[in-house]
Amino acid sequence: MSNSSPDERTLVLIKPDAVRRGLVGEIISRFERKGLRIDAMVSRTMDAELADEHYAEHVDKAFYPPLKAFMTGGPLVALVLSGDQVIDVVRGLIGSTDGRRAAAGTIRGDLSLSNRENLVHASDSVDSAKREIALWFPELG
Ligand code: ADP
Ligand code: MG
Repeated sequence: MSNSSPDERTLVLIKPDAVRRGLVGEIISRFERKGLRIDAMVSRTMDAELADEHYAEHVDKAFYPPLKAFMTGGPLVALVLSGDQVIDVVRGLIGSTDGRRAAAGTIRGDLSLSNRENLVHASDSVDSAKREIALWFPELG
């Protein structure tokens, strides 16, 4: 009998700063080396409507207008990753929000010096993963 739970899925965005800086391969490589699977991947530029939906919890915050300008300002790479406890595992790999304070060894801690241009978005709960995957990859149902 196995005690492992069924694999989860999470939504990851490799943000426009990472694309601009040529860090897409480095970031995907960290997810692959961890043993996570890539179930879907697309290059896309976020429009204003998608930004407002994706960041619904943040639209009224002071940091949202510059965040929206940043996130809609160039192409990004959207992925669905799967694996055992992938939601928490990916949040651990990317590190805390502010790149200046994120732990060394994490993607943000190693590669970002900003609390806005912090390279990666990842779903933070089972509910947000479901909502965000439906938004970005409706075909995965
Ligand atoms: P996370 O991406 O770690 O889940 P949040 O959901 O709190 O962080 O915020 C969403 C995004 O908004 C962050 O990844 C970052 O790009 C931006 N952000 C959050 N807080 C700030 C802030 N104080 N100043 C500027 N940008 C911020
Ligand atoms: Mg968040």
